[in-house]
Order: sequence, then structure tokens, then C-alpha cells
Amino acid sequence: MTALYKTDSTKRDRLKEFYYQIKDCRLCELYKTRINFVFGSGNSNAPIVFAGEAPGRNEDLQGKPFVGQAGKLLDELLLFIGFNRNDVFIANVLKCRPPENRDPSTIEINKCKNYLFKQIEIISPMIICTLGRYSTQLILNTSANISKLRGKIFKIGKSIVLPINHPAAALYTPSKLQVLREDFKKIRDIFDNYEHPENVGEITEVYGLERIYKARADSAVAGEAEAGETLVDGTVAGEVRAGSTNTSGAEVDELKARDDSAGVVKEDEVRTGEEKVPESDNSRQAVEDKNQQLGLF
Ligand code: URA
Repeated sequence: MTALYKTDSTKRDRLKEFYYQIKDCRLCELYKTRINFVFGSGNSNAPIVFAGEAPGRNEDLQGKPFVGQAGKLLDELLLFIGFNRNDVFIANVLKCRPPENRDPSTIEINKCKNYLFKQIEIISPMIICTLGRYSTQLILNTSANISKLRGKIFKIGKSIVLPINHPAAALYTPSKLQVLREDFKKIRDIFDNYEHPENVGEITEVYGLERIYKARADSAVAGEAEAGETLVDGTVAGEVRAGSTNTSGAEVDELKARDDSAGVVKEDEVRTGEEKVPESDNSRQAVEDKNQQLGLF
């Protein structure tokens, strides 16, 4: 697609440098069970960043986000609105897989969230599309239910934020797939009307979060978190509350499990083939080669 957005060659370098700073992260316990640290992938100059929840089994095996059934659906929906993976950047709230695809814990989110903030700060996208409850609550700094936020348009600094349902939730439910398609059309509309998003719908401007992201991004590597900001829903709270009520949470988990079992890659194949770079071959060159193979940057 034509680059309707400004290309900044330093973004790729900054993102890559950031990857090297955090790829061996041990801020939470998930490093003990991960096969790969799933940084995210796509275009460093992307006009749109998609933020999912956490890697599942296939993502952990391949080191790339959204490579299972939900990823296939994401690809289809991107094509539907005239984009492909190379046009956008895809990342998750958590960079490591929670065992058995359990929900991310509050501790894990709070340790990991600065990584996503920093990625967003570097890419500085026109649109941030949050997929499902966790990234939506994190980015909008709210505990409000995703069903109340889905499809609404927010603005944080220069970025438009559009929360939508997680693609996994739509995998086996045609009515949800239809909603998702409508929401993807909205992404395209916002992209086409970026200078005048009010043409697409009512905008809720969220003040203050841009400053908070910046501060957090600056301390991302240290894994520091800040608390006490004003939430979108008007309350003031510290941390994102994992486990807050959400009708589709359990459903998404179950579907993620199904997504895993329908996975495109068998564990053994990857272990013998694209094995994660062994300790002894963890040189920057080796990692760069592997990432290039995976198409990460
Ligand atoms: N679901 C997510 O939220 N992220 C992935 O990377 C894959 C499935």
C-alpha cells in the first residue's frame, strides 16, 4: 500500500535497539517457562499498532505474535481493509506466554506493560487498535468492561485508540465475526479520516495518558510502574485489575486453547527446526539472523 504516513528511518533502529535491551527479560516468572520472548512484529513505521493479550503456544514456539487461528483471522481482516501484516505492527501486553494460556496476572501486566508503552512511543502510530479486554484496559487505563468500550473512538495525544474484541472470540461465532468486520471497517475509516476522525464518530479525548506513557516508556527497561492516574471511566486507581468482570474472558481463553490445538506448527517441528537461539549462540548476529528469518523487523 502507498505510504500515507511519514517514514522515519530511526524508528526501526530504536525498536531494534529496544528489542535487544529487553529480549532476555526476567522481570516476572514467565521467563522460566517461555520458549521465546515474543517482542512483536511488523513495520516500525506502521500507522496502526495492534495490541493483543499474550502469546499462546504457537506464538511461544515461533517467537512471533498471532500465528495461530486468531492470527489467520487477523490477517484476513487486515486484507479486508486493504492492509497486510507488513503495513502494521502487532504486539501483546505480555511478551511471554502464560502457562496453559491462563489469563495474565496483575503482576505480569505491571512488569511488562512498559514494554508495550515504549513500543508505542517509538512507533508513534496514528491508530492503536486494542484487541480484547487486557490491552484495552491497559491502554485506556481503565477497569471498564470491554463491551462498554468496544467500537468507541478515543484519542490519546496524536493517536486514535479503537478498542475492539479479540479475534479469538470471533473464531467460531459468526455474529461476533460480523461485529469484528464492522470494527475493522472503522479502523479503515479512521485511517482515511485521520485529520478529521469526527467524521467517523464521536471522539473521547483522554487527557494526561500521553504524558504517563512517555514517563513509563522512559523507565521501561527498569520495569518501573506508576500508579494513581485518572482512569477513563472517571475513577482513580493504580493498577490494571486482572480478573475484573468481563463476559468474554473465559470464552476467549477457551478459544485460545482451541486455537492452540489447531495450531499451524507442531511443537517438535519447531524444537528441531527453528529452535530458539541457544545460549552459546546468543550473539547479536545470530539473533539478528534468526529474526530476519522470522521477519520480525
Ligand atoms: N492471542 C493474543 O492475544 N496474542 C497472540 O499473539 C496470539 C493470540
